Order: sequence, then C-alpha cells, then structure tokens
Amino acid sequence: MSPFDPRYRRSPTERSAVALYRVAQAIEALFRKRGKAFRLTPTQIDTLLFLKYARPGVRTVGGVAQRLGVTYATASVVVDGLERRGLVARRVAGPDLRVVGLALTEQGMARVAEVEGALDGLLAAIGELTPNEQAHFDQMLQVLVRSLQRAGAVQVYEMCWGCQFFRPNAHPDNPATPHHCAFVDAPLADGDTTFECPDFVPATARE
Ligand code: SF4
Repeated sequence: MSPFDPRYRRSPTERSAVALYRVAQAIEALFRKRGKAFRLTPTQIDTLLFLKYARPGVRTVGGVAQRLGVTYATASVVVDGLERRGLVARRVAGPDLRVVGLALTEQGMARVAEVEGALDGLLAAIGELTPNEQAHFDQMLQVLVRSLQRAGAVQVYEMCWGCQFFRPNAHPDNPATPHHCAFVDAPLADGDTTFECPDFVPATARE
C-alpha cells in the first residue's frame, strides 16, 4: 500500500513523511505566491537569496548549480534570465580573469528585500507551537536534515557537516553543545550546525 493512498491506515512514520511532503508543497506555494507579483519563480528567488548571502568566493554559476542541485548549463540559463532582467551582473571575481563572479545589482538587492519574507507564513505556523515544542521540533528537524544529507538527498553546502573545521561530537559530555568549530574554537549546539556559515571551507578542500 502507498502512504499517499488516503484509504490506507498509515503508521506514524508514514504520517510524518506525508506531513513533511505537504509542508514541502506549502513552502513551494509560499515562494510562488511571493514571487508572482515580481514574475519570479521559486528557483529564481532561491538564486537571488543565494547571491545575497553566500560567501563571495562561491557566488558563481557553479555555486548556483550546487545550491540548486542542477547542472552548470541549467544554472547558467537561470542566471542568464536574471541578468537579462537587470537583477544580476557578471563580473571578474579576482586575479584569474577566467573566474567570473555574480553579484546582485541595486535592482536585484531591492527585489530580494521584497521576496525574502517568503517563509513568513511558515514562521507564523511554527510560532503557534509552545517554546518547548519549538525546541523539540528544531532538534528533530536537525536530525532529519543530517540523515537526509547522509543519504545524499540534501546538499551539504556551507553547513558544518561538510566543513573541514567541524569536529562532530567533540564534547560528548555536554549534550547542549556536543560539537566543536575549530575555526572559531568554540563548541556548537546541534541546531547551529545546519545553517550556512560565511567561514565554511569544504572538507574536500583540506590540505
Ligand atoms: S567554520 Fe562555520 S561551517 Fe565550519 S565548522 Fe565552524 S561554524 Fe561550522
């Protein structure tokens, strides 16, 4: 039986999976609704957000491809569209003239400011939980994200779990902050490890 079949009595695990599927649909809908007024698709919004908040070194077409989980050619098409609309500009990123970086134009920055509240509806829904429920929910989600990372379903990108400075479970005696960041030499809570970090260096870049 399929968990999508409404006649089927689902297990708690299946109910959670279907609920998260509905949440994913809701997020897509929130992005579409927010982008509609500006003729921006969720993919374009995600690209603009990436170019606003990613480290300068990864603001490239390759970085966009990694963020979106698509090929370089597909990311290039997305960037071309945003460039044609005057929201993104290509520019030489450093001494190597072959490396072309991407930057938001002034108009692009203004557009991001208008769409980056796309998750407000989701924040409001989570805000209806009690503080204890929110803390528990946060913990559960971090575990889930990590598990999906291990399975290759979530990009390890700019997060501690793919960073060369990350020392998982370095403080087993401290359940509140069990991990360690060797870059700032400080303990990290579970919830701090799945956010994008400006100091991230991919583990593959070690040595
Ligand atoms: S540098 Fe940033 S991404 Fe890397 S371990 Fe430290 S906090 Fe995490």
